[in-house]
Amino acid sequence: MIVVLKPHVTEEQIATVVKMVEELDYRAHIIQGVERTVVACVGEERGEHQLGHLESLTYVERVMPVLRSFKLAAREVRPEGSRIKVGGVEIGGKRLTVMAGPCAVESKEQVEAAAVGVKQGGAHLLRGGAFKPRTSPYAFQGMEDEGLRLLEDAGKKVHLPVVTEIMDPHDIDLFVEHADMLQVGARNAQNFSLLRRLGRIKKPVLLKRGMSTKLEEFLMAAEYILSEGNPNVVLCERGIRTFETATRNTFDISAIPVVKKLSHLPIVADPSHGTGRRDAVAPMARAAIAAGADGIIVEVHPHPDRALSDGAQSLNTEQFADLMRQLRRVADAVDRQITGAAAGVA
Ligand code: PEP
Ligand code: MN
Repeated sequence: MIVVLKPHVTEEQIATVVKMVEELDYRAHIIQGVERTVVACVGEERGEHQLGHLESLTYVERVMPVLRSFKLAAREVRPEGSRIKVGGVEIGGKRLTVMAGPCAVESKEQVEAAAVGVKQGGAHLLRGGAFKPRTSPYAFQGMEDEGLRLLEDAGKKVHLPVVTEIMDPHDIDLFVEHADMLQVGARNAQNFSLLRRLGRIKKPVLLKRGMSTKLEEFLMAAEYILSEGNPNVVLCERGIRTFETATRNTFDISAIPVVKKLSHLPIVADPSHGTGRRDAVAPMARAAIAAGADGIIVEVHPHPDRALSDGAQSLNTEQFADLMRQLRRVADAVDRQITGAAAGVA
């Protein structure tokens, strides 16, 4: 159930609602919208009718059920959509966010060259994996702690917040210290103990869709994080596994408008893992923005032919700058903006 409060309620009135909700054995999550405050009540469905009594308070507009299995992620609790702050960057709203960088941090030189390249191209966040989930235990597993520090330093040098994948809940303190946004990879999309743990911090989380998760399951994964108290979740469509083998995954662009309807959480698209093919990255990035994505995350390597992972789907820095030029035009066409000047672009 959600309790929608009238505009201009006082802190005291919000506190009264929270207290009443908690007395009925529900957990109250305060969701501050632009115009209205909503108190989402999470708990047993059985006693829900009792929450209806809150409608008698003069400053409560409505008490309504959220009929979906996900509650805090549901669009109804924040119809205008959420905006999530990562460092100084805001994800959601009219502005599009571009996250770019190598699949994996490989060396100081490599990550710095990538950072400078994506910054010049106009990226807003630097990505890079330090702990890599690889199919083979014999493949490069990432530079781990050292990689995390190299990524952090490279981000600082070019003034970009950094996003990087966490696999093990035990590493959370290390990640909170060195990263601005924590990525949950497709392979951990339903690792519920990791999700719960990420719900107990405030750092923003980039939650990727699992390769075989339905959209409802994807949003339920987000619900795990939200229900523990961390409202800072950004979703990422990165392709799903189908019978098709011409692409690494099947990039589910239709997920973008559907998720937008179902949830207030921002959603970005990953055309790199979505296709696995460099030649398909730009077309799919354009399509994702046209479909309503709040941004993209794309793999960029200073020398893709020498990359230790995902070279075949990585753009070089010139290709990235070219992609940004294309995306600015698509953004314009769908009434969105990409802020931050790219090199040579006013
Ligand atoms: C990655 O971002 O490098 C990655 C491993 O992505 P995914 O979890 O989507 O496969
Ligand atoms: Mn990758």
